[in-house]
Amino acid sequence: MTALHSTLTPAQTDGLIARIESKRDEVVALTQDLIRIPTTNPPGDAYEACAHFLGERLARKGFDVAYIRAQGAPGDSDAYPRINVVARIEGASKGSGVHFNSHIDVVEAGRGWSVDPFSGYVSDNKIYGRGSCDMKGGLAASIIACEAIIESGLPWAGALEISGTVDEESGGFAGVGYLAHRGFFTPPKVHHVIIPEPLGVDRICLGHRGVWWAEVETHGRIAHGSMPFLGVSAINHMGAFIHLLETKLMPTLAQRRTSEPVEPPGARVSTLNINSIHGGQVQQRYSLDALGQPTGDLPAPVVAHNCRAVLDRRFIAEEDLQSVKQEIIDMLDELKRTRAGFDYGIRDIMSFIPSATPQDAPVVQATAIAIARVLGREPRFISSPGTYDQKHIVRTAGLKDCIAYGPGILDLAHQPDEYVEIDELVHSAQIMALAAWRLLHS
Ligand SMILES: [Zn+2]
Repeated sequence: MTALHSTLTPAQTDGLIARIESKRDEVVALTQDLIRIPTTNPPGDAYEACAHFLGERLARKGFDVAYIRAQGAPGDSDAYPRINVVARIEGASKGSGVHFNSHIDVVEAGRGWSVDPFSGYVSDNKIYGRGSCDMKGGLAASIIACEAIIESGLPWAGALEISGTVDEESGGFAGVGYLAHRGFFTPPKVHHVIIPEPLGVDRICLGHRGVWWAEVETHGRIAHGSMPFLGVSAINHMGAFIHLLETKLMPTLAQRRTSEPVEPPGARVSTLNINSIHGGQVQQRYSLDALGQPTGDLPAPVVAHNCRAVLDRRFIAEEDLQSVKQEIIDMLDELKRTRAGFDYGIRDIMSFIPSATPQDAPVVQATAIAIARVLGREPRFISSPGTYDQKHIVRTAGLKDCIAYGPGILDLAHQPDEYVEIDELVHSAQIMALAAWRLLHS
């Protein structure tokens, strides 16, 4: 029975591709609808509306739909409930579980847009909007891919799942992380996961570099700002630390190259960013009116007794987390020995080690074959500079057969005038459908 329909005939393959081509307007409309739900994170706006929009559509197509609120997870509150949607539909016979996971959250629109970021404006074969490329276009493509399989009338095996999850942009702990802890990405329900992040229509993303976020705090002693010699400035201490990072650590990191195919190639080294710095008094803005008089609060003259900086260290597969941490601690200890009054604390915020799915894994092979069939060219295998929800699926759920594959140009993510090309939406939906078919019957 299974052997009968385990692979599509050439005519069936052409039929599935043509069916998705005929849904061009539908994938555009679905992407626009999703863009128009402004799921900005932070704070986590409109998650419930977006989850229900997806769930109601998929229920109409025959999916069983579950809404899972991440009660007690970071960010969850009654004002901003972290609501995920997971939809599942069973095929006609036994097979594998294929899951498409997309995050529904988008980063803030920011400035510099020439169109309304939440209108879904279409021009010149492109859909514009915040989240068009990262990653509501990919979500729409995966939905159209699954619906095309269901509507094809072909008897298919296994189960298709689609999830819309929250908070990927802020770590995914209330989204995929929450679901991974609860067995959502685990056999016998799920065997293969595709995350339609915007890595490009002919590129398969195997994994990502590692990440370590840490907060460094320097300590000082408060004193009157007119007599700084009676205190110790935590800001000056932090300045000395940042100077060391810039002059000693960053040049070293730039020499540390990985053999992984990270894109863009500039990220094939270790990197460090200082995400934020806060020192002294609570952050305020001070200003004067036209007459030179203060218009609001004024600062009080004190020596800063503390200063905090958040480090964003991205590391390569050739490094290990322990030594990544240790080289920062060694620098802080060096300052403690050499700089009068230097004192510090350091706190882990988050870490994930690098991940790389092997090129011969089933999900990679199925997607590669589908790319060759639809686009007529060989796929490129890449790795991502930043982590995404694959970390939770591979590290927490322990499911290794996971990739990111989806439409869009990664560089446009989080930018003003973000867009996704309509041809890429259609092609990626075709590729997802063919890859899913192969995996369902594997
Ligand atoms: Zn994304």
